[in-house]
Amino acid sequence: MQQELDGQPSYRARQVWEWAARGAASYDEMTNLPRALRDRLAERVPFSTLTVVDEAHARDGTVKTLFHTADGRPVEAVLMRYRDGRRSVCVSSQSGCPLTCTFCATGTMRFGRNLTASEILDQVLHFRRIEPVDHLVFMGMGEPLMNVDNVLAAAARLPDIGITHRRTTVSTVGWLPGIERITTCGMPLRLAFSLHAPDDALRSRIMPVNDRYPLADVLAACRRHHEATNRPVFIEYVMLAGVNDRYEQALQLARLLGPGFTFKVNLIPYNPTGTGYEGSSREAIDAFRAVLEEHGVPVTVRLTRGRDIAAACGQLAAAGARRA
Ligand code: SAH
Repeated sequence: MQQELDGQPSYRARQVWEWAARGAASYDEMTNLPRALRDRLAERVPFSTLTVVDEAHARDGTVKTLFHTADGRPVEAVLMRYRDGRRSVCVSSQSGCPLTCTFCATGTMRFGRNLTASEILDQVLHFRRIEPVDHLVFMGMGEPLMNVDNVLAAAARLPDIGITHRRTTVSTVGWLPGIERITTCGMPLRLAFSLHAPDDALRSRIMPVNDRYPLADVLAACRRHHEATNRPVFIEYVMLAGVNDRYEQALQLARLLGPGFTFKVNLIPYNPTGTGYEGSSREAIDAFRAVLEEHGVPVTVRLTRGRDIAAACGQLAAAGARRA
C-alpha cells in the first residue's frame, strides 16, 4: 500500500483507512481519492489480507466466517447479534494455537502462526461491511497475549471502526507477561481470564499452561489489573460435567476470588467439540452459580450463540485443519 501511495499527499493513507473503517467494500467507493489512484490501488493492492473461504449462518443470527491468509492459513471469526441491538465480533489472534487446553477444538489443531495487526483488523472489517459493530472479544483461535504486540496494534485502531476500548475484551489463559502489558498499555481494555479450575492440580491437567503460570501468580496479576483500571476482571469458567462443576469446587472458587467487585465470573456452558468432555447440565450450572452468589461473587451464565454452526466458544477450528 505505502509504495503505491508514494508521491501522494500524506493524508491519502488516512483517507483509505477512514473509508475502510466505515465499511467501504472497495477502493472504488473512496470518492475523495483521484480516480486514477483508486484504479491503481485496485490493481495492485489487495483490499483485504484475508480471503473468505466459507461462511455459515446460524438460526440465532450468528455468522461464522472462515478466511485464509495470503499464505493459506485458516482463520475464523464470528459476528454475534443480540436482541438488544449489540453487535459483537469474536476475532482470532493466531491461526491455530500453540497451547493444548484439552477441551478446546483449536487446541487440537496444528499451530500456524501469529496473525498480523492487519489480519486481525481485516476480520473486523469483513463484518463491518455487513453492518455496524460495537463490541469485540479476542476469544477466537489462539492466545492473544502470546501475540500481544499485534493485538495491541489492532486494538488501537478499533475505535475508528466504532468499537471503543472499553467494549474490547482480551481473553487469556493467564499468560502472565501479557497481562502486565494489557494493564500498562494505556487503553482501557477489558481483561478476561480463562480460569476453568479452582486448584492447580486440576487446572494443570486440563490446561497444561498452568504449569508455567500457576493460578496464584495469575490471580495476583489480575488483582493488579483491577487496581490499576478500577474495572472488574472477568473470570471465564467452562462447565465440564464431573470435572470442575461440583459443589466443593464452587466453594473453592468463591474462596479463591473473594466477594466484591474485583472479579466477575462468567460460567460458560460447554460446547461439544469431540474432545471427550461433556457439558454440565443446566441444573449443575444453576447450583454452581448459586454457591458463588451466596458468597458474594458476581456471576452470570454466558448465552450460547451459534452452536448449530459450531461457532460457539472453543469450537473454532477450521474443518480440514484438524490434527489427524
Ligand atoms: N486463548 C484465549 C482466548 C480463546 S478461547 C483464552 O483461552 O482465553 C475463548 C474462551 O472459550 C476461553 O475461555 C476458552 O477456555 C473457552 N472455550 C474453549 N473451548 C470451549 C468449548 N468447547 N466450549 C466453551 N468454551 C470453550
